[in-house]
Amino acid sequence: MTQPLARKYRPQTFNQLVGQDTTAQALANAIRMGRTPQAVIFSGVRGVGKTTTARLYAKALNCESGPTPSPCGECESCHAISAGNHEDVLEIDGASNTSVDDVRLLRDSIGYVPQRSKYKIYLIDEVHMLSQSAFNALLKTLEEPPAHVVFLFATTELQKIPQTILSRCQVFLLQKMTSATVVSRLEEILRLEGIPHEPGSLRPIAREARGSMRDALTLLDQAIAISNGKLTAALCEGITAQAPRELITTLLRALVAKDSKLLVATIDQIEQTGTDLMSVVEDLAQLTRHTFVIRDLGCDALDLAQLDLDAGELQELEKIGKSAANFDLNRIFRTLVRCRQDLDGSPLDRCILENYAFEWCLDPGLPDLQQLRQTAQLVQTTQVPAQPMAAPVAQSPAAQVLVASAPVASETAKKIKVFPATWHDLVAIWRHHRPLQAGKLEDAHPHVYSPELISLTVLESSFARCLLNPDEQARLKQSFSDLFGFQGRIVIEKAQPQTNFTAIADTTAAASPPESLAQKSERETLQRHDALRQAAVNHQTTRDVLEVFGGKVENVRIKNID
Ligand SMILES: [Zn+2]
Repeated sequence: MTQPLARKYRPQTFNQLVGQDTTAQALANAIRMGRTPQAVIFSGVRGVGKTTTARLYAKALNCESGPTPSPCGECESCHAISAGNHEDVLEIDGASNTSVDDVRLLRDSIGYVPQRSKYKIYLIDEVHMLSQSAFNALLKTLEEPPAHVVFLFATTELQKIPQTILSRCQVFLLQKMTSATVVSRLEEILRLEGIPHEPGSLRPIAREARGSMRDALTLLDQAIAISNGKLTAALCEGITAQAPRELITTLLRALVAKDSKLLVATIDQIEQTGTDLMSVVEDLAQLTRHTFVIRDLGCDALDLAQLDLDAGELQELEKIGKSAANFDLNRIFRTLVRCRQDLDGSPLDRCILENYAFEWCLDPGLPDLQQLRQTAQLVQTTQVPAQPMAAPVAQSPAAQVLVASAPVASETAKKIKVFPATWHDLVAIWRHHRPLQAGKLEDAHPHVYSPELISLTVLESSFARCLLNPDEQARLKQSFSDLFGFQGRIVIEKAQPQTNFTAIADTTAAASPPESLAQKSERETLQRHDALRQAAVNHQTTRDVLEVFGGKVENVRIKNID
């Protein structure tokens, strides 16, 4: 029977430790300087090389030519450690020796000197599984270990180890291996084994191994076993429990496009590969994360060595990111995280995933951010666009007359011999020619307006009171004659001020003077503001905002309108 690759290519020296350069260098240096730690913790995810590193350290200490940073691998001691039967190197599984009695037995054995080598080495795997009392018993030994004793602990859960233990140990954090590191190691091994492989065929294996070299080598063993002497991408994909990356990318594209038909078809395809849907959703969530990072921060923001994406995939994610609406990728990510929590490996998983996907496709999306901002301004700070205001002005006959008269240059041509149809029109034209005096006419109350007679009243308190002056009236008549060809009479009288009482008691129109243009303009402005307030409150975007965020419109202020 052939030897498993994981055993055949187990590192024999610190230089051969793949992906753990810092730890390897630190241990080699410590040995070189004669400052070897007596208690060491190797921490990291499973398959990352914790026990391999610990055994290597044991070998370095107990090699017949040691302690040495390069154990020979040939001597009896090195062989025995590799085979796991060295009398002075005791491997203990923390998971099955958790009691205080186990630790007491261990403690009792510590007093005996090593039988054949320099050090008595205790390698406790899964040390975080020890009970509190076992840790307490262990602590007593760690406080003052005999010079010939070395403790090596391996753990996947460093946070479960009591601080009192940690403080007496040198801790090495072993790095999870990147896909690229795993692939290059696998390629090296295939070269040594003389087995050809298609370019890119090892990536599915590295992905499936998720940072564990041991798992990657086990998968490579399987792939070699069923191959015809050459590893193909299809074969390697076949032995992993992963959906091909293209299908996951297609799922993301379908989610972004809210294409439920494509979603169902792709989920169908994935199911046929026999992939566990939990890992599909996890991969999809990761891909979504990469996409929004690329979209918002650019490709440079991703540590490409850590990710397992080639240039083509990166480009595809960039494209998907650009096609996604604001926040959609983040919301898809949240949907996937919720979906993942609901999956439990049961046959219902497919329906659960589809239901989340459909729910997402039916989601109407968030209102446009720009629109939201504008509405928020309308509701809160009251910046109303001038457009609704401008329309009635442009439509008024006076304005049309003004527009028609504007290009006329000479002084005589400015005289408009067509008598304006209304008092309002007359004042508009007047304002154009005599802007500084327009206010007087706007404050006057027009009682009669015809080519024969213009009868006005003015309040003594108003700006128009100067019109009561006969000289002023004569100048006005001359101007009206010049501008409009007006030849009739102008009568301007003092208006009787109304008390508040009569204003309330007598509501008949006849009792009060006709409203001045200034009053009219003020009234119309108020009406327009009322209409704008109503429009802002009833606007679809306002209602969307209220629906999404809740609350009510307290106030609509109108500013900069005229
Ligand atoms: Zn040796």
